[in-house]
Amino acid sequence: MKEKLIFDLSHSGRKGYRLSPLDIPERSAESLLPSKFLRKEAAALPEIPESEVVRHFVRLSNLNYHVDKNMYPLGSCTMKYNPKINDYTCDLPGFASLHPLQPESTAQGALKLMYELEEMLREIAGMAAVSLQPAAGAHGELTGILMIKKYHEKLGKPRHKLLVVDSAHGTNPASAALGGYHTVSVGIDGSGCTDLEDLRAKLDDDVAALMLTNPNTVGIFEKKIPQIEKMVHDNGSLLYMDGANMNALLGITRPGDMGFDVMHYNLHKTFSTPHGGGGPGSGPVGVSERLVEFLPVPLVEKYEKEGRTCYRLNADKPDSIGRMMNFYGNFSVLVRAYTYIRMLGAEGLRRVSENAIINANYLLSRLLDNFSLPYPKPVMHEFCLSGDRQKKENGVRTLDIAKRLLDYGFHAPTIYFPLIVSEALMIEPTETEAKETLDAFADALIAIVEEAASNPEKVLSAPQTTPVKRLDEAQASRQLNICCPI
Ligand SMILES: *Cc1c(COP(=O)(O)O)cnc(C)c1O
Repeated sequence: MKEKLIFDLSHSGRKGYRLSPLDIPERSAESLLPSKFLRKEAAALPEIPESEVVRHFVRLSNLNYHVDKNMYPLGSCTMKYNPKINDYTCDLPGFASLHPLQPESTAQGALKLMYELEEMLREIAGMAAVSLQPAAGAHGELTGILMIKKYHEKLGKPRHKLLVVDSAHGTNPASAALGGYHTVSVGIDGSGCTDLEDLRAKLDDDVAALMLTNPNTVGIFEKKIPQIEKMVHDNGSLLYMDGANMNALLGITRPGDMGFDVMHYNLHKTFSTPHGGGGPGSGPVGVSERLVEFLPVPLVEKYEKEGRTCYRLNADKPDSIGRMMNFYGNFSVLVRAYTYIRMLGAEGLRRVSENAIINANYLLSRLLDNFSLPYPKPVMHEFCLSGDRQKKENGVRTLDIAKRLLDYGFHAPTIYFPLIVSEALMIEPTETEAKETLDAFADALIAIVEEAASNPEKVLSAPQTTPVKRLDEAQASRQLNICCPI
């Protein structure tokens, strides 16, 4: 179904509102604004009654795909269902109407929420301190990298290289470069984990830190963290953990206990804010004792005054890397994460991760006969399949399979990432999907594999049922000079 533009639905004189009669003297526009700012002609706005506006936007939202509609198996993104109570709390007038410049004494509730959220995140990951400032995971990476840089500078021995494991998210090397570092990649071994020999060969006295993701991007838990931690710290380097995959670790194990010096959390992923299409996000950083003094300012502090507990922001930290963002970060995401954590409690958070892992392993077991798995099982909360077999036998690529999934009513998984897996399909079901949904998704993928053999043209020309059919993506990406996963 095609949806008209709202301008094409407009009819002169139809209105969605009526104002009460004016009970003050009318003033002309000229008496209120300098004439150079006044339009000569009325703005061309659509005229449309409320019922039609509502229906127009509901129809548009139905054309769209979203996690309130069906499963969103986008590997690496943790597109879980986001409980609506999160939106309720962040819409409470006391939070939603806060002004960033209002005096601290009138924003004590917001500061308390931030303080307690920091404490909860600290506990969840076992870090010494947390800052909520960064606006997203990648911004948290940059924040962490700038702290690492300042740490080495303060020791009087600036270093110039950051080691990044091959399976890392693309934001890792990008943040390293933005932080002024030269990136050196470390390979992975046959089990999908960091290659210790390669790491040993690349660790020299110019390496500021190693960045790794755990569980890593192919969904495997890095088992040799104790050895890695020793090698890195013995070399005077620091250890960064990309915490985007915390959905697999909640209540089970903690990066701080593994010896990581700095990590970021992706609140919008693990702690459930609807995200995608660029935001909103929040990427707090947690640090070990080594880096506490370098955290961005201001920090939220608790103090006692006349027998009352109060909160304030303290920017007086001489060794801080400074501000990473205006004001207090993406506050509404902080309220959602706080609500989510408080609703689940410690027990509930652990069950989130256990169920995320069980769901991923169940779905994987349903798909193993049809796709190859480049790295060994068991997996954590996500897994990466290869569509090599379909490409070789039927000339159907992973891109075509992803497009055909849209016809079956599913969002496609992440494809062609990570780069270390050819024809990659990276699938993260999350804990919020029921067995029936996982089965329906597996059935759809298996049906597509059968179609690829019996009627490849059907898969190659998909999608047929979406509002927009197949795009010339080669041309689109040439024109936009981008490379995007879907
Ligand atoms: C999502 C993700 C990031 C980047 O986080 P953003 O919040 O999108 O900036 C980094 N690393 C991994 C492994 C991720 O999945």
